[in-house]
Amino acid sequence: MEPIQESVPDDGPAMPPPSSATSAPPVRTRQMLPPKGSCWYCEKPLDNVRRFCDKECADAFDEEKEYTR
Ligand SMILES: [Zn+2]
Repeated sequence: MEPIQESVPDDGPAMPPPSSATSAPPVRTRQMLPPKGSCWYCEKPLDNVRRFCDKECADAFDEEKEYTR
């Protein structure tokens, strides 16, 4: 028995686009940052395509940006 392949991708956005009022912005602050070879939050050295060493740093960075806007 094979799994049924649906035409709808499973990894697409699960939620409809927000009305961009007070909910979370669709583009995170961190996604506009260029990779600089180290973590933007804790300055840990990274490869040239990553901005953060892990999700916690990314989230923490985002939170800081949200609150200091
Ligand atoms: Zn980090």
